[in-house]
Parts: sequence; C-alpha cells; structure tokens
Amino acid sequence: MTPTAAPTSRRFFGRKVFAVIGSQNLHRFWREAAYCLSGGIALALLTLACFRFQSNIATATCLYLIVIVLVSLRGSFISSTLVSIIAVACLDYYFTPPLFSFQVRDSINIVAIAAFGTTSAAITGLVSRVRRLMEEKLQQSEAYLLEARRLSNIATFSWTASTGKILWSEESLRIFQYDRTTTPKMELVLQRVHPEDVALVKQTIERAAQDGMDFDFEHRLLMPDGSIKYVHIVAHALRDKSTALEFVGAVMDVSERKRAEEALRQAQADLEQVSRLNTIGELTASLAHEVNQPIAAAVTDASTCLRWLTRDHPDLEEAREAASRMVMDATRAAEIIKRIRLLFNKSAPERESIDINEIIREMIVLLRNEATQYSIFFRTDLAEDLARVMGDRVQLQQVVMNLVINAIDAMKDVDGTRELIIRSQQAEDGQLMVTISDNGIGLPPQQADQIFNAFFTTKPHGTGMGLRISRSIVESHGGRLWAGDNSPRGASFHLTVPTQVEARE
Ligand code: ADP
Repeated sequence: MTPTAAPTSRRFFGRKVFAVIGSQNLHRFWREAAYCLSGGIALALLTLACFRFQSNIATATCLYLIVIVLVSLRGSFISSTLVSIIAVACLDYYFTPPLFSFQVRDSINIVAIAAFGTTSAAITGLVSRVRRLMEEKLQQSEAYLLEARRLSNIATFSWTASTGKILWSEESLRIFQYDRTTTPKMELVLQRVHPEDVALVKQTIERAAQDGMDFDFEHRLLMPDGSIKYVHIVAHALRDKSTALEFVGAVMDVSERKRAEEALRQAQADLEQVSRLNTIGELTASLAHEVNQPIAAAVTDASTCLRWLTRDHPDLEEAREAASRMVMDATRAAEIIKRIRLLFNKSAPERESIDINEIIREMIVLLRNEATQYSIFFRTDLAEDLARVMGDRVQLQQVVMNLVINAIDAMKDVDGTRELIIRSQQAEDGQLMVTISDNGIGLPPQQADQIFNAFFTTKPHGTGMGLRISRSIVESHGGRLWAGDNSPRGASFHLTVPTQVEARE
C-alpha cells in the first residue's frame, strides 16, 4: 500500500466498522438489557443464598465479584457498571450494620464497601476495554477480508447438494452479473456458463454431489453482453454424517490472468517463429519453394512451345507466346535468386563483445514456458567471471536456441525425469565451452555422424538445417560444435568459441 493510500483506506475501514456497529444498535440494546436483568437476578439469588447459609460479608463480596466479572465478559461497560452499582447497594443494605438500611456505621465497613466498589469498577473497565479492542480488531479484519475478496475477485459460496440450496457472497453477484435481489439457484449459475463448457460443469458438479469429493476446475462464462470470463472454482466437501452433504468454496475471476497468459504464449510463439524463420535452413526451404514455382511453369511453357512447333503445321504465334511466358518465368526465378543473395549480404555478422552466460540466461527465459509444458527442468552451471567473446549476438543466440529446442524435442516423449543442463566453463587455449545436455531419446543410432549434414532430420516436420547452420555459425566465430552421448541417457552438445583476448590475437 502506498503512503498516500493508507489514510484513505483507514477512513474507508473506519466507516465500514462504524456502519457495522450502527446496524446492530437495537439488537445490542436488548442484549444489554438481558445481561443487566440476569446479573440482577444472579445477585438476588446469591443474596438469598448468603442469608440462608448465614454467610459473612467477605463471602458475599467474593460471590458478587464473580457475577460482575461474568457480566463484564458477556455484556457492555454500561450493563456491567449497572450490575456493579446494584452489587454495592446490596452489600451496603444487606450485609453492613445496621442491616436493611443504606447507612454504614463503622468506618471499617465504609472502607470495605469503597474497596469493593473500586475493584468492581476496575474489573468492569478493564474487561470492557479488552473486549472493545478485540471486537474492533475483529470487525476491522472482517472489513479487510471483505475488501481483499473484492480486490482479488474472489467470491464465496456454499451449496447443499441434496436440496440444491445455494448461498453466495456479494462478489458472486458481480462475477455472474446478477442483481442483489436474485435468489441464487443452480439454473442461474448454469445459464451463465459458456455453452461449450456446460457439459464439463454439469459433469463435475454431478460427480461431486455423488462422490462427496472436493472439486477444483476452470471454465468460461458467457455474459449477456457477449463477453467471456474465465472463472476458477474450488470447493471443499463437508462430510458431516449428521447433516446433508455441503460444499463450501470460492469462485475466482481469472479472466485477466488468462488473457495475460494467452498474450504471453502468443508472443513467445511469434518470437520462436521469427527466430526459427531467421535460420538459413527455413529460408532455404521457403526460397527453394518460391524458385521451384517459376521453374516448373517454365518447363510447362517449354513443352507447350515444343508441342506448337512439332505439329504438322507449326503454330508460330502460339509457340512465340509460350516462349515469352518462359522468358518471364525464368526472369522471375532469377529475381528470386537475386533477392536471396541480397538477403545473405545483409546478414553479414556484426561483431561485438558478448557475455555468453547472458545469452544462455536470455534463452532460458524465452524457452522456459515451452519446457514447463513438457515438465522439463532447466539446470544451469555457469562459470562466474567468464571471459567475454567477440561475435554476432543474434547468431550465437540462434545457436543456443536451436540446441535447447532440439534438447526439448528429444525429451518431450521420454518417461522419467526430464532435465536440461546448460554448463559454461573456461576451456583450454583461451576458448570458452558451452555444454547442453539432455536426458532425451539420444542421438539417432547408426546415424549420429550425419546429424550435422544439411537436410538430415529424424523429425516429421524437421528441416534438418538447424545443426548444419549452427555449426557454420560457430565455425565462423573460430569455434567448434560437436555432439556426443550423455550418460546414462540422452545427448550432449558442446560448442567452443575463442574468448575476446584470443579472438583479437
Ligand atoms: P531438425 O531439428 O529440424 O531435425 P537439426 O539439424 O537441428 O534439424 O537436427 C538434426 C537431427 O539431429 C534431428 O532431427 C535429430 O535426429 C538429431 N538431434 C539433434 N539434437 C538432438 C538431441 N538433443 N537429441 C537427440 N537427437 C538430436
């Protein structure tokens, strides 16, 4: 909470506490009257008992004090003060000579009555104060709780499975968009559920009512204005044998979180797509496709041209048209190839001083979600004070990303722990070494020596260019990239690059 927000919130909670107290005034008046009456009756009964057993003033004083403490604990300051006054009067009237008179003859008795009065006043004051403080604290935390529920979009509810009776908090009305007068019913809840999720909700509820099990699930709501909300519902079953099966739970509006997650996922997918498209492998594939089209068209035109020429009466006009279409197709193909060359010229590496550990950390952040999706854990062992390298940041990022994505692909379908370890260390001859190890399916048996070949892939949608390009990037940086088996399972990829000092030399 910001310093400026604090006084406003305190005023808000103060008002809330005050409102709570105000609404209960009448009820409180009758309750206090009842406490006074029962305190008076208790004093009368004790006085009678004292007379019956001929008890002395000390016994009566103790018994009266007990009544005062009990009334103070239950009632307010006013009711306990009233009972204290009645007790002092009774002590004076019934137990100090002359009896049955409010006169007090001996000074010792005056002192005794004064001491009793002071003690009862102290007890009354003290107990009332403690109680008031506790009540205020309770009301304040209730107000805080209400506010917290409102801020966190959490509604609470209870549902008795056998009768279908539902009780819900005000926040539920806001989430489901019903007005205050609405009586909560299961049909009303289902009315708001997104048509595609109705079956899931009904099934979950029916199963919970049958088995008496807790439930916890998410679904969508379709609001009257056509907007969609995401809600998370958690309910706990109260399995008290003496009462009907009841669920108490919470409904959380998680729409914001869902939208943020979706936006993040989309951004990551886009980023990954861009990074992947950036690799020369993807470019090669898509450009090869582009070049293929005009060449295929040129071949068709060429055979059409031949057909017109080899007829008994060659149609030169048609043949000329086919030949000029052929020229256009060939020109288009040449244009595409020119574009490819321009593109490669543009991507001439830019050398800068790079912290390899930083690149590794960036890639982990980018790919963490993808890894989590397949229950893959990242573990890093990055050497501190690692020397920097001179290189092209984007290209080196592509290499690390490609190796990590390959490792994730290799672990997607294996059983057991899926762990990806990235290690960086200072190697010999002024080189830096990065090792990426996984415990996935391992390198393809009998073909491990081919994985760096262009277009070698074992994946249904693979390009087989990732490792080829990664190796040429690393080699263009003066380093090496190779692979080996990981123990006890999976593969390890190692890359070395010269450190900045080494590269300068
Ligand atoms: P792609 O990923 O498109 O198949 P790559 O050149 O990146 O292209 O990889 C070539 C092949 O090398 C993959 O198809 C796979 O068989 C093998 N490979 C790469 N990384 C791993 C790894 N971490 N574990 C097992 N095999 C791998």
